Amino acid sequence: MSSIVKSPSLLDGIAIASQIKSELAAKVAAARSHGYTPGLAVILVGEVPASQIYVRSKVKACGELGIYSEMHTPPASVTTEELLALVASLNAREEIDGILIQLPLPAHVDTSRLLEAVAPAKDVDGFHPINAGRLLSGSPLEEILAPCTPAGIMEVLQRSNIPIRGQRAVVIGRSNIVGKPIAAMLINASATVTVCHSQTADLADLTREADILVAAIGRAGLVTADMVRPGATIVDVGMNRITTEEELQRFFPGNASRRAAFDKHGSTLMGDVDPAAFAISGAYTPVPGGVGALTIAMLMANTVKAAKLRRD
Ligand code: NAP
Repeated sequence: MSSIVKSPSLLDGIAIASQIKSELAAKVAAARSHGYTPGLAVILVGEVPASQIYVRSKVKACGELGIYSEMHTPPASVTTEELLALVASLNAREEIDGILIQLPLPAHVDTSRLLEAVAPAKDVDGFHPINAGRLLSGSPLEEILAPCTPAGIMEVLQRSNIPIRGQRAVVIGRSNIVGKPIAAMLINASATVTVCHSQTADLADLTREADILVAAIGRAGLVTADMVRPGATIVDVGMNRITTEEELQRFFPGNASRRAAFDKHGSTLMGDVDPAAFAISGAYTPVPGGVGALTIAMLMANTVKAAKLRRD
């Protein structure tokens, strides 16, 4: 008797992000016809190269969608008080709908005080305790400003018709940016959710129960094939650079394009999931080209949403 083995579907974050962006461009055009242009202010402190790259991509995405944007670039020596004054001035400006403080901030700056100073209605990162509380209280995602990466994961699952209601979801990671908010979103969507972290005992026993497995850890290839139920959906949030020949051989044996990238750059980007685990999944988000592609699209979505919610 022969059995048909279905090959896993690749959940294409780049295609979904571009679909979301074209829907947003239409919403921005509609907003303009109603007499306002959504506006985003980005605060980038100091000269952290990775942050500069992220911020440039965010500003570029605003330009492509017709969203107004402006950048504030105080030096690394800026004080918490000076940043609080900047945030207060942005809170007060009518044409600014979203305020994004690019993290991490220098160690001497009080990050939580600053994040809490952003008006909740302009908190497009969804990090303010009021917005985190609304998410936990079960407010519909369309009506709140929720963190971008987990909101992007929900878009991927929903637009790919992955069932959520009644499914077992296991989230590895409990950060405020990814793990906790995606757990809340999955609970609100009626999944049965288990959250794991570095102190979890018998991790593999739990992950093997997952219909939907979300890995938000920051450890290359930590999720191996034996930790995955065949046919499960895997969402790989991790962004890790592997830099050794041993890791390349372990995770990408015989993969010519990875070899070429590795030889050219001395590293290659991978997630928290060993590609051998993707091979037995039902569907998975690749790295790169999966969840990471959604984050900026969701920031744009939050800016457009914030502009509309403030005016409704
Ligand atoms: P984080 O704040 O460092 O949290 C990592 C979580 O993983 C923690 O809860 C930690 O547990 C848990 N963990 C660490 N080692 C573990 C282990 N051996 N077994 C089980 N759990 C373990 O990281 P994050 O900000 O959530 O980000 C996670 C990953 O996603 C990173 O690779 C990051 O670069 C990536 N990321 C991507 C995007 C995007 O694609 N746009 C956005 C955000 C983050 P404890 O709480 O016990 O320490």
